[in-house]
Amino acid sequence: MTFATFNPPERTLMGPGPSNINPRVLAALSRPVIGHLDPAFVGMMEELKVMLRYAFQTENALTFAVSAPGSAGMETCFVNLVEPGDKVIVCRNGVFGGRMIENANRYGAQTVIVEDEWGKPVDAQKLEDALKANPDTKVVAFVQAETSTGAESDTKTLTEIAHRHGALVIVDAVTAVGGTPVKVDEWGIDAIYSGSQKCLSCVPGLSPVSFNERAIAKLKSRKTPVPSWFLDLNLVLSYWNSDGGGKRTYHHTAPVNSLYALHESLLLLQEEGLEAAWARHRTQHAKLAEGLAKLGLDFVVPEGSRLPQLNAVKVPAGVDEAALRARLLNEYNLEIGAGLGPLAGKVWRIGLMGYTCRSENVLFCLAALGAVLNTAP
Ligand SMILES: *Cc1c(COP(=O)(O)O)cnc(C)c1O
Repeated sequence: MTFATFNPPERTLMGPGPSNINPRVLAALSRPVIGHLDPAFVGMMEELKVMLRYAFQTENALTFAVSAPGSAGMETCFVNLVEPGDKVIVCRNGVFGGRMIENANRYGAQTVIVEDEWGKPVDAQKLEDALKANPDTKVVAFVQAETSTGAESDTKTLTEIAHRHGALVIVDAVTAVGGTPVKVDEWGIDAIYSGSQKCLSCVPGLSPVSFNERAIAKLKSRKTPVPSWFLDLNLVLSYWNSDGGGKRTYHHTAPVNSLYALHESLLLLQEEGLEAAWARHRTQHAKLAEGLAKLGLDFVVPEGSRLPQLNAVKVPAGVDEAALRARLLNEYNLEIGAGLGPLAGKVWRIGLMGYTCRSENVLFCLAALGAVLNTAP
């Protein structure tokens, strides 16, 4: 058997991620590899940290990209900040809250779960009640932008409540950053992780993270070593942090070209401006919502808690949702997402993330959906 160069089809990516990538980011990927300790590369990494601080709206020194996808950013937060026996409250209103519970359990936490219905934001009163019932809670964790449902939770309020009860906060902002306001310093978020392939519109496989002084104090006061070698912040920082004049040392070989790509995508974000990017997501979401209503499609999430970048709509009765998605992919080169967990088979998830979030894509998606729905069995 002989093989040929792999040429992927050109898709419009309107699912839960990855999103489409600006040609400037693709061009950055194809530049020459250089050594990961080359002074030219180190200079690029320093710029990357500055631009990541902008994306997170933080001055945190400890801000960098984990060399692995968003799930590894989640794991980095839990493995460094949770010690065996710590009480951890996880708010679950979708798939990714469930994964946080898995993380907390695996690192030996006493996990308390605050449940909310899929499609609803995390209920602040329930968190308050759980903290009153569990005054020894060390960490509160929740997802700002639940990609499995399209619901946005109020990070500012939830963080305030956790801090009032003396707990640290871990926030999943994988889908949030770049698409909807995330203000790490203003809201006092202690530890946060994102992903490269959602609203930052970069290649998959990198997870920007940021930790404030309170989180670092918790890390430094651990009685047990961080149980992961690869994700131990104490070790990773010997590579990412040379700010103090210290010498950078080898930890792992950084994904050199992917980091060029992230640098370029953050440059694009900086050129557009965060506020303008948030406004673009709101505007295109409104246009999409109007069109979906005309097609008779209802949102899963109540108005007021909808994420502009992830639109979950109910599949009309009698429609074979998988067959319709397959037609969109095969006939229109258009990817939209399926439902997960209890929403499997019941919803479509239409992403408007980063570079994908443009008027022409909204119109294309509505036209394609309209066409296949009219001819759907
Ligand atoms: C996509 C996503 C993740 C996981 O990111 P990967 O890059 O797929 O590992 C985590 N949390 C949320 C909310 C996500 O949308």
